[in-house]
Amino acid sequence: MSGARRKAATEMSPLRPRLRVLLPLPLAGAYDYRVPQGMEPPPLGAFVVVPLSGRAMIGVIWDGDADPALPERKLRDIEQVLDVPPMTASLRKFVDWVAAYTVSPPGAVLRMAMSSPSALEPPAARAGWRLSAAGRATLERGGKVTPTRQRVLEAMAGELDGEPHLASAIAAAAGVSTGVLRGMADAGLLEPALIARAVEFLPPDLKRTGPQLGEDQQVAARAMREGVAKGGFGVTLLSGVTGSGKTEVYLEAVAECLARGRQALVLLPEIALSAQWLERFEARFGVPPAMWHSELGSKRRRDTWRGVAEGRVQALVGARSALFLPFPDLGLIVVDEEHETAFKQEEGVVYHARDMAVVRARLNEAACVLVSATPSLETLTNAENGRYSSLDLPNRHGGATLPSVQAIDQRVTPPERGRFLSPPLVQAINEAIGRGEQAMLFLNRRGYAPLTLCRTCGHRMRCPNCTAWLVEHRIQKRLQCHHCGHAEPIPPACPECGAEGSMTPLGPGVERVQEEAAELFPDARRLVMASDTLPGPAAAAEAARAIQAREVDLIIGTQIVAKGWHFPHLTVVGVVDADLGLAGGDLRAAERTVQLLHQVAGRAGRAEAPGRVLLQSWNPEHPVMQALISGDLAGFMAAEADQRRPGHWPPFGRLAALIVSSEDEREADQIARDLGLEAPGGEGVEVLGPAPAPLALLRGRHRRRLLIKVRRDVAVQPILREWLSRVRVPNSVKVQLDVDPVSF
Ligand code: ADP
Ligand code: ZN
Repeated sequence: MSGARRKAATEMSPLRPRLRVLLPLPLAGAYDYRVPQGMEPPPLGAFVVVPLSGRAMIGVIWDGDADPALPERKLRDIEQVLDVPPMTASLRKFVDWVAAYTVSPPGAVLRMAMSSPSALEPPAARAGWRLSAAGRATLERGGKVTPTRQRVLEAMAGELDGEPHLASAIAAAAGVSTGVLRGMADAGLLEPALIARAVEFLPPDLKRTGPQLGEDQQVAARAMREGVAKGGFGVTLLSGVTGSGKTEVYLEAVAECLARGRQALVLLPEIALSAQWLERFEARFGVPPAMWHSELGSKRRRDTWRGVAEGRVQALVGARSALFLPFPDLGLIVVDEEHETAFKQEEGVVYHARDMAVVRARLNEAACVLVSATPSLETLTNAENGRYSSLDLPNRHGGATLPSVQAIDQRVTPPERGRFLSPPLVQAINEAIGRGEQAMLFLNRRGYAPLTLCRTCGHRMRCPNCTAWLVEHRIQKRLQCHHCGHAEPIPPACPECGAEGSMTPLGPGVERVQEEAAELFPDARRLVMASDTLPGPAAAAEAARAIQAREVDLIIGTQIVAKGWHFPHLTVVGVVDADLGLAGGDLRAAERTVQLLHQVAGRAGRAEAPGRVLLQSWNPEHPVMQALISGDLAGFMAAEADQRRPGHWPPFGRLAALIVSSEDEREADQIARDLGLEAPGGEGVEVLGPAPAPLALLRGRHRRRLLIKVRRDVAVQPILREWLSRVRVPNSVKVQLDVDPVSF
């Protein structure tokens, strides 16, 4: 536009409304746009298309006032308003809240709520047919057509509601062949029309009832139903020993929520391993739930996002990202296995889905239920001080008893040289299999051996990109890094000293345990359950089926086996290396090890036959082993709390980590030091570091860490923002903020 014409244009039209639009980009915040002439100003939350540096982008009309001082010529017009239900005020607030809490740009959080912009594309349309004007007129005036054509006209106006339909559907409804339709189209009675293919989400059947609940279950279920029926926000911790039937109890809360016409969301830590859970949902409600996880295809993703936004999805089970779906009326969020670290997202916007679930529930006036047999210290503390209410199921369902747990002292009865299973464990497995029961060996390590070493010079194979040893995977004949995916062949000679045939695997992974088991229990039918042997949900579901059908005698698995499986014929569980998780300086290692091993142990003895758990340990006196043996988890957690309280460690203080990383080690050091020099201080604020981060080299980036610890009554976010603003960080350096890190 020339200057003169622009001037004329602005004089002719009154000032057009300006709105803020948040774009799903990691930018500072919302941008101002103008409502063009002839467009109704879109409401808050509307999804709109706007130009951004020559591209069209989808954004959301955001809260707050546009800047009136911005000159008119700097403003661009909103191009289009999309036919999608506007984002609710509560979800907009949630996006802003998560951004503020995690110190992330709101646009980065909006990106998650839009599930990448592709979720907003209209559903793919398919070609179908509808009545033409001539067709309708023929029907209404009783025009002359053949009886078959008459049937088609009637079916389309009647049974098919006058809507466009696929040829196959019309033919079936009218009882004619599709050839008839083509003829009618040629005669002008039908015309082509696109059918928007909205996937149907079958509504859960609320007339069905669950199993007859036990007494404790009834009490808990009633309390939860009442909480949901009351409406409004509240958090409940549903604890209870493994196998106590917590799932059936919270499904009652889901039923109540659906009966009130509100949507229900269940978060599971690993949805790919949840075949048994899905079966139970279907048994309870007659239909499978809608699902949301990272492996969903793009079409399914789009349909599900829309289904949620349009309220057609009533119950959804998902991974942590489901928390950002556009539920118009969310009445309940259940976080199952709330202690699981899989709920923490470590990349991009770093957040803990359990904590954010509580926030979203509050903003939606919804109930929130946190479920675990081994609740996190965070949640226990909240329950203790009355912020959360708690319900507990102290007994296993159906009279099953908890397994007995014993340690096998590796100093007293060590395995034979070069072996990893000690004689008492071998005997227990033999006995179980001999009785026709199942046994399980647990080792939280994939692959064959965690370390490959040269017997001649002592050289160890390490990842070129990470501070990590390469793990031998014998089946694939490769050494792999479990952090960056680097892989290389197993070298025939030592790369350092050249000695031939000198490279030796050190220590066990599940593959090696499986090899030993094959020698020790040659007649047992064995199954390895690890993420690389069971890729994808179908394989995991098939494994679970085979185990339940007693086609397997011995299960050998990594942490996959700790998930909520119910294997009624499993009576003996052996933990190959119970000390494994305790190495390293992480303050939370003990808590995590107790949770993991207790969950693994909880797979044993779920039906009539009692279960037995054997922990191979070099240090059976360790409080972790003692807690598992005595079963006194509450006592263990109380002792943990006592250790953390005085130093204001979480949950008694707040912690945030700053991870400084660069491909250039000196640069990473430099910026970490600069941050250290500018470290905030004052009452109740403490900065630790810089120090090498737990993985000092990761994917080729050198990492340094600073920790800031503040008292519970101090907000850490403003301190972080101010701190970062004082240090100039070059583009080659990344500073990743992690508020409430899971390890410290
Ligand atoms: P948790 O989640 O507490 O470990 P589950 O919910 O998995 O326990 O329940 C353990 C097993 O008992 C499951 O197979 C479940 O179907 C069954 N179960 C639980 N409650 C009942 C009930 N009231 N009637 C029948 N079976 C039940
Ligand atoms: Zn690596």
